[in-house]
Amino acid sequence: MTRVYLSLGSNIRPRHHLNAALESLNAQDTVRLLGVSPWYETRPWGGIAQANFLNLACALETDLPPSQLLQITQGIERRLGRVRTLRHGPRTIDIDILLAGGIRLATPTLTIPHPGLLERDFMLVPLLDLAPNARLPGNGERLSDQRTHLIHHQIIRRLPGVACAGNGVRS
Ligand code: AMP
Repeated sequence: MTRVYLSLGSNIRPRHHLNAALESLNAQDTVRLLGVSPWYETRPWGGIAQANFLNLACALETDLPPSQLLQITQGIERRLGRVRTLRHGPRTIDIDILLAGGIRLATPTLTIPHPGLLERDFMLVPLLDLAPNARLPGNGERLSDQRTHLIHHQIIRRLPGVACAGNGVRS
């Protein structure tokens, strides 16, 4: 079993789409959802005027190789109506694979760890909520030490009152 961390984001009916995506992940036979981070309101990234996002991270376990997990997450994106028009534009749901166990991977379709993880606070901070002791595969650096090196500071606030199952999931 590989422990995987995903990043989910939405700025079109975000509560609805994030909940729907989590339910779809939870319904997969091949995936066990372990926990969901607190939810964050974030400023859009990439310079296009659009609504704020909600972002979160979730932890899961799976035997699937990352390429097959990507097919599942892309299937969920398609089912929830994600249409790729503007790069970095509004979206019903965006699901990125942040970490997958000790795997390092760079193919034309998949880079793990996700390149944004060390740059974007809305990817790193929710992951650290779930896994404060997580380390980078390869060099073993603590991800918590990377917070000071973030480039994109998009988080506006952590949302109160959203259930955050699985806090303290161990990395
Ligand atoms: P985006 O528009 O930001 O969601 O990027 C989607 C594309 O990024 C997909 O076509 C994936 O093949 C590619 N990709 C590369 N690495 C990853 C990753 N770690 N997680 C999700 N998508 C990835």
